[in-house]
Amino acid sequence: MKQSEMLLPTLRENPADAEIKSHQLLVRAGFIRKVASGIYSFLPAGTKVLRKVEAIVREEMENAGALEMNMTALQPSEHWKETGRWNTFGPELMRLNDRHNREFALGATHEEEVTAIIRDEVKSYKQLPLTVYQIQSKFRDEKRPRFGLLRGREFLMKDAYSFHSSNESLDQAYERIFQAYTNIFTRLGLNFRAVIADSGAMGGKDTHEFMVLSEVGEDTIAYSDKSSYAANIEMAPVVDTYEASTDQPKEREKVATPNCKTMAEAANALGHSISEGMKAIMFKIDDEKLVMVLTRGDHEVNDVKLKNLYDASLIDLASEEEVKAAIGAGFGSLGPVGVSETVEIVADHAVKGLANATCGANEDGFHYTNVTPGKDFEVTHYADLRFIQEGDLSPDGEGMIQFAKGIEVGHVFKLGQFYAEKMGANFLDENGKNQTLIMGCYGIGVSRTLASIVEQYHDDSGITWPKQVAPYQVHLLALNVKKDEQKELAERLYTTLKDEGVEVLYDDRKERAGVKFADSDLIGIPLRITVGKRADEGIVESKVRSSGVQSEVHENELVDHIK
Ligand code: ATP
Ligand code: MG
Ligand code: MG
Ligand code: MG
Repeated sequence: MKQSEMLLPTLRENPADAEIKSHQLLVRAGFIRKVASGIYSFLPAGTKVLRKVEAIVREEMENAGALEMNMTALQPSEHWKETGRWNTFGPELMRLNDRHNREFALGATHEEEVTAIIRDEVKSYKQLPLTVYQIQSKFRDEKRPRFGLLRGREFLMKDAYSFHSSNESLDQAYERIFQAYTNIFTRLGLNFRAVIADSGAMGGKDTHEFMVLSEVGEDTIAYSDKSSYAANIEMAPVVDTYEASTDQPKEREKVATPNCKTMAEAANALGHSISEGMKAIMFKIDDEKLVMVLTRGDHEVNDVKLKNLYDASLIDLASEEEVKAAIGAGFGSLGPVGVSETVEIVADHAVKGLANATCGANEDGFHYTNVTPGKDFEVTHYADLRFIQEGDLSPDGEGMIQFAKGIEVGHVFKLGQFYAEKMGANFLDENGKNQTLIMGCYGIGVSRTLASIVEQYHDDSGITWPKQVAPYQVHLLALNVKKDEQKELAERLYTTLKDEGVEVLYDDRKERAGVKFADSDLIGIPLRITVGKRADEGIVESKVRSSGVQSEVHENELVDHIK
């Protein structure tokens, strides 16, 4: 490609709203242009890079056995209403009405759409398992679109969905796609880590995020310096325990219940989300039940206020089933006797090591009467839930926790039956019995990944694209096109390189040498070949963009030199 014919508008100044390198450089190097907040167009060079990233993603998804398809960006509200997400997704979902006043969403994600298709087309276990994917624009009206392509409102995503007749089959697909993601981010040259993630409101259990390590990342990763443990900090609260009978902190230890390793896990199992500054108090009833109280804020022993109480839950020491039953029963069903309040009193007293509380439990439920913790109750633990900190013992017991900032570029998720159940997506099993489909979903932010590459591949002068995604492999510069010998040699080399199938951008513009060098550094093509003073001898200068290594090469040796 001749640069004189190319749309590659470079800028000397950073755009005023660009705070981070990838945003500044992608705009300055002429790869993207802003259309509106969080909305960017890709210019030709940017499009080339995008297609290369996509190609790697596509190749690895195909290797993992996924089938490419293309779903619509316009989605009728009906499907979103079936799952309830029309209401729960909130303002991030962009909505519009057609001329008949029918409601639509612009696809923020495609679980509903794909489940609707599979519900109609897959009827038998014989058609399973099945994994489909697409690479397509997604729309999310982000509260704070920023950092250029990192958090856009229209962005490119690769999303995949898998359908199964058994959990084992889902586990296999999850493993396969996890491996595909590892391959993708490795091939892209990224320094990344797969971390345990928060399953949030989506239900489901296993979920990992792929994080590119970068100071500008919005997520914090807690990882062990010895083991493979790594988690999004949202998922890695640590529990400091104190004996209730004393207000001196004891050595840090994990609170173990048979089903949950930490109180945080127990709380998650019970459907509570843990946040920083929350306290958990556990106390035992009848040698069998553990009551866990999650609280926030300060507590006055005699000033019982509900607002201070986050929640109270029951943990069964015996089995998971009983835990679930207990959650089902719920403390809320205990009526207006102020169970929460009395539990809080216990909590307060437990925290303060006092032995006088006016609450308790009896066998026909959890009716609190005048009892004394420490006497009628055994207070087992008081825990201060806070996020893991650097230097903490890793939750798996191996090594110390370190922190790193990360950009979420990928997310894999075992959805289970959440969508299929709500949308009635069933299949007939081997015995002719109707069963609900089991699902997984897997996303990669393709445009975000592109920006992450720039975050990891740049220097003071510009981008330093890794070869596999560079818009061109060679940047050929004719320093002074007014000099015949330079122009002739450059044109000759341009033709040769093109014939050899080398992707070459040829700077044939009538610009000063300084401008050409500065632009070339900014654009970041891996190898620069400069035709200058020694053109008459057939000698050109070669410079590797990333290392700065220079050498002189004769035109006859150039193809070998490049390949
Ligand atoms: P985030 O936590 O950054 O908001 P998310 O968890 O909401 O991301 P997912 O629903 O998991 O995103 O979507 C799959 C992938 O799409 C993400 O891992 C990320 O790489 C990408 N992505 C999500 N939101 C954006 C966005 N606003 N701009 C660019 N890429 C995005
Ligand atoms: Mg989000
Ligand atoms: Mg996220
Ligand atoms: Mg995510």
